[in-house]
Amino acid sequence: MRIIAHLDLDAFFAAVEERDKPRLRGRPIVIGADPEDGKGRGVVSTANYAARKYGIHSAMPISHAWRLAKDAERQGQMPAIFLQGSYERYSEVSERVMKIIRSRVVCSDALQHKSGRSESRLYVGVEQASVDEAYFDLTYTGDFIKAEYVCRKIKEDIRKKEKITASIGLAPNKLIAKIASDMQKPDGLTIVTADQAENFLAPLPVRKIPGIGPKTGEFLKSKGIETISDVKQYSLEELQDILGKPRRLQSGSRPQKASGWGEDIYYKARGIDNSPIVEEHEVKSIGQQETFRNDTLDAGLMFGVLKEMSVKIEKKLKHSGFGAFRTVTISVRFSDFETKSRSHTLKEPSDGADKIYTEAMKLFMSFFDKRENPQNKAIRLIGVRVEKLTK
Ligand SMILES: [Mg+2]
Repeated sequence: MRIIAHLDLDAFFAAVEERDKPRLRGRPIVIGADPEDGKGRGVVSTANYAARKYGIHSAMPISHAWRLAKDAERQGQMPAIFLQGSYERYSEVSERVMKIIRSRVVCSDALQHKSGRSESRLYVGVEQASVDEAYFDLTYTGDFIKAEYVCRKIKEDIRKKEKITASIGLAPNKLIAKIASDMQKPDGLTIVTADQAENFLAPLPVRKIPGIGPKTGEFLKSKGIETISDVKQYSLEELQDILGKPRRLQSGSRPQKASGWGEDIYYKARGIDNSPIVEEHEVKSIGQQETFRNDTLDAGLMFGVLKEMSVKIEKKLKHSGFGAFRTVTISVRFSDFETKSRSHTLKEPSDGADKIYTEAMKLFMSFFDKRENPQNKAIRLIGVRVEKLTK
């Protein structure tokens, strides 16, 4: 049996802002694109719990969040604060939190004792899944009670040292741990043992399964599948019929496994997940995207934005520990939301913002004429990323 924990920092970006700026404490905070008095066109990246009471949540268009905040204000509620946030400050806090987790997981006495030597890397398992999330393997503790103790210590360290809170799910695998960490936010600790797993999952909405987004959720609902126990009414073959084929690749989405969604969801609904903790989360690409204030075909404006993005990507690339890349990929979203991607791979690894800029610009040129844009559609968003990264 495995014992896996999933830790998720609570409303992370907003929590860091509240911590650093006392005047913000207790206020509804929305971090994301500039709302520009309701005309902004980006999205919300984090909303704190006070802002969520207004119906604001992450990934929502910032203009919509702005309207909800204004509605709340008209009803006599506290005005929300909109911030663009500081990626660098958040990643510093994130790094320190990951250190706390590693120190508690790696240096525990039980681990040293069990491995019988100071070199205990075999047992170490901390996987940073995103800036505010990590999985870690507590199987070595031997039971859920000891594992819970480690989790409480980690939560306590984070609260004391970083003055923010985390929620943790403790379960027999990554899938259930991830769902569990979300159950009692903020500052939660939810334990689901192997015996409890199926009953824990059954009543939950199918959207709770990681990977099922709003679209798949709506689609399943149209088939009468709303809860995880509804999924279990279907055989593997039936689910493959309903969902099975690997989805058509869209730009930015991750490639689906050849087995397809049907099989994936069949097993997930039963709480079965053997995916391992991946110690070094492999960074495969680094990128940036930008939504324009107005849909545009102004090359000057676009190349200006492109230049800024290239500088940011170079910074992130250095920060990631990689120095060089071989592939530059751009994506373009038109005013009608059609999205296209184009890539170019260099013969030799290259580096630097200038190179990113030049390669991306070459790829963008064809979007200003018939080659990629025969209807002369205006452009809503551009993205650039570098891939095939090397040290
Ligand atoms: Mg979080």
